[in-house]
Amino acid sequence: MKMIGLIGGMSWESTVTYYQTINEHIKQKLGGLHSAEILLFSVDFEEIEACQSAGDWDTSASILADAACRLERAGADLILICTNTIHKVAPQVQSAIHVPLLHIADATADALKTAGVTDAALLGTKYTMCQDFYRDKLIQAGFRVRIPHGKDIELVHHIIFDELCLGERKEASKAELLRIIDSLAREGAQGVILGCTEIGLLIHQADTSLPVFDTTLLHAVRAAELSLL
Ligand code: GLU
Repeated sequence: MKMIGLIGGMSWESTVTYYQTINEHIKQKLGGLHSAEILLFSVDFEEIEACQSAGDWDTSASILADAACRLERAGADLILICTNTIHKVAPQVQSAIHVPLLHIADATADALKTAGVTDAALLGTKYTMCQDFYRDKLIQAGFRVRIPHGKDIELVHHIIFDELCLGERKEASKAELLRIIDSLAREGAQGVILGCTEIGLLIHQADTSLPVFDTTLLHAVRAAELSLL
């Protein structure tokens, strides 16, 4: 079994899901008491978020690249950044290490392709929804990507940072996210990408008739699959 290196803590609420999902997959595949071999480097998210809101992506890149190097030195065979947003600095992180960095948008694009979805709504932080680094990866893979409009961009961002990353799950916020998903579906989206690793703590497939692509689960399962190759 290959050693999976996780750069987590962004937020730790969703890193829990990674740990659980990877282990569930290994248990399902290997049975018995089998569990995944995982190294976790969990960062202090306050520091990372301060860089994000200041637009200081260079400092984020060096913190993340340092974490990835330490995981590689400790024996990781593949590395995951357990959040969508910080994939903005994925190229810098990948160039600092010699093992593969498993990109969350690649795992998501493969799942969309398998499901035959070509037009997808994307919910995430305002960085993920509005900047090019994430959307372009999907667009280049052939997908049409729809994001919320106007004040709904700030609303989704607020639900992520001021509630979900702090462990708060509110029914009113869930209703707002479902309203946004419905309106993007009416515009033509055939599926919704939960492009923030915390949104799956609030929205599940059972909540909507639109196919849900939860990036946390897709990324974690991909890591578990690769660890067994
Ligand atoms: N975990 C979230 C994401 O997937 C947001 C937190 C962050 O800014 O990293 O984008």
